[in-house]
Amino acid sequence: MPEFRSGFIAVIGRPNVGKSTLINALMGQKIAAVSPRPQTTRHRQLGILTRPDAQLIFVDTPGIHAAKHKLGEYLNQEAQAALESIDVALWIVDVTTEPTEDDRRIADRLKHLPSRLPQVLAANKIDVVPGDQREVAVNSYRELLRDGVQVFKISALQSQGLNELVSALVALLPERPPEFEEDQITDLYEREIAADLIREAALLKLRDEVPHGIAVRIDQYTDRPNGMAYIEATIFVERESQKGIVIGEGGKMLKQIGSKAREQIEAMAGHQVYLQLRVKVEKDWRNNESVLKRLGYKLKR
Ligand code: GDP
Ligand code: MG
Repeated sequence: MPEFRSGFIAVIGRPNVGKSTLINALMGQKIAAVSPRPQTTRHRQLGILTRPDAQLIFVDTPGIHAAKHKLGEYLNQEAQAALESIDVALWIVDVTTEPTEDDRRIADRLKHLPSRLPQVLAANKIDVVPGDQREVAVNSYRELLRDGVQVFKISALQSQGLNELVSALVALLPERPPEFEEDQITDLYEREIAADLIREAALLKLRDEVPHGIAVRIDQYTDRPNGMAYIEATIFVERESQKGIVIGEGGKMLKQIGSKAREQIEAMAGHQVYLQLRVKVEKDWRNNESVLKRLGYKLKR
């Protein structure tokens, strides 16, 4: 068996340096449908890149950025644990500008991470900087880090230097079997929390009437241009009688659950939310492997 490498790569960088562009370029066409995985709350997953020899799990580590809204606070509690379970720290910078205050703050955090955690600097937007000025531009960032950090000059937009970057990242990952199935991908964090919050609201409102036989699936979570998010979710119950209880007389109970959940999600996400809930009976879902899988529960093998 050839060795397989797998691990978590923290993607760090202030806004606008090109993190999303880079992830999208790396993922290529590989981004597939998502399924929420309720237990995974340590990382916001940006993308999972699976190759024959390696699986690179790109994650956001919210704790390393300044908390801007409630979500940030929520995440800070997990931030330390998150950093401890990361294998490589990838810092992305924009070489068309000098390091900003935010860049310096990030560099400072990186310097204080354990030295056993490999760090890589990706100097992005190199396509905009004339050849003879690149070295100076890159050095203004390199010098903020420890000696010996690997540096790659890239253009996420024009897919330059990406193969070298990925090869270096793979080499830094531990030998380990893949964490996720090949078709599993991306950006689940807010969805996961939203699902948890809806479930929590339902349990709170229902008290003991539908004990734990409830699961929530986020069917849609889209950001609208007006700054709101549109969320569609399904509450699963095990029996027809429970469905009636969850909906309540004239839909009253479901409405209460929805407004409580919406309140919580808005506080979490820091923006307004339009929440559409429905209820579905899925008999004995807790024992049904395919249903569990669809709901995002990954079974340990
Ligand atoms: P993020 O906030 O770090 O996720 O940054 P984005 O990926 O959203 O990129 C911010 C802006 O920088 C967008 O307009 C991108 O098109 C642009 N950008 C990203 N990477 C590059 C690059 O390599 N070269 C150039 N010229 N622009 C880039
Ligand atoms: Mg982005």
